Amino acid sequence: MLRAENLTKTYRRHAVAVRVLTGLDLEVHTGEFLSIIGASGSGKSTLLHLLGTLDAPDSGAVYLDDKRIDNLPTRGRDELRNKTFGYIFQFYHLLPELTTLDNVLMPAYIQHSVMGWWSARGEWRKRATELLEKVGLGHRLKHRPRELSGGEMQRAAVARALLTKPRVLLADEPTGNLDADTGAEIVKLLRGLNRDEGVTIVMVTHNLEIVSATDRVVRMAGGVLTDDTRSFRPHAPRPHLAATV
Ligand code: ADP
Ligand code: MG
Repeated sequence: MLRAENLTKTYRRHAVAVRVLTGLDLEVHTGEFLSIIGASGSGKSTLLHLLGTLDAPDSGAVYLDDKRIDNLPTRGRDELRNKTFGYIFQFYHLLPELTTLDNVLMPAYIQHSVMGWWSARGEWRKRATELLEKVGLGHRLKHRPRELSGGEMQRAAVARALLTKPRVLLADEPTGNLDADTGAEIVKLLRGLNRDEGVTIVMVTHNLEIVSATDRVVRMAGGVLTDDTRSFRPHAPRPHLAATV
């Protein structure tokens, strides 16, 4: 469904060039929950940004359903970002002045003109409320982010990311700011949504504890993925990852 081919990316700061991706290939299959692990600074966020057209590679290409998406004009990229991809980040990025419900509705506000919103708002509110119930926040619709715990804020961010029924959810260290138990709950939630909503998930993390809940794990090192072929079957004994990262 989503494919990266020979991606390279170098950041330049004054005279210093940081080669982050050096010819990376990746294939993401429809419906899978993939995790990408790697040390801090190995380029995980960079890769996620390129997959989600938030940034462009220096060379190589990204394909969605065999259509190239890394070189689209602004309009095409906006469309993908609004409808095809959902994004979750480590620090939630909720707007502090808005209620939980309004935060989740934000992608819909952005999509519509004032008139368009007027006629569509009932449907969107219904979808947002259902999603908030699904992530366990049905009793927090009117709360502001500062009145929520970290785990609750991330649940709200998950609901927001799913509002427009994206096909692919890109999650960048979604448990990075949470304690172990709360992080595990978020991954469990993502696992359930992957199943129930049929959303494909690419999750970046450096937390090896949480990847056992996912379908497949690939590791970034040296600007490429080093073990793309190793799949985790739910009931098979797992190799010990900590020793190899
Ligand atoms: P990770 O998410 O795995 O921690 P990143 O993709 O954020 O890694 O970053 C990879 C490397 O690229 C790091 O060395 C980082 O400092 C550098 N980097 C990331 N973004 C930029 C940028 N916008 N400008 C310059 N260097 C950057
Ligand atoms: Mg990162």
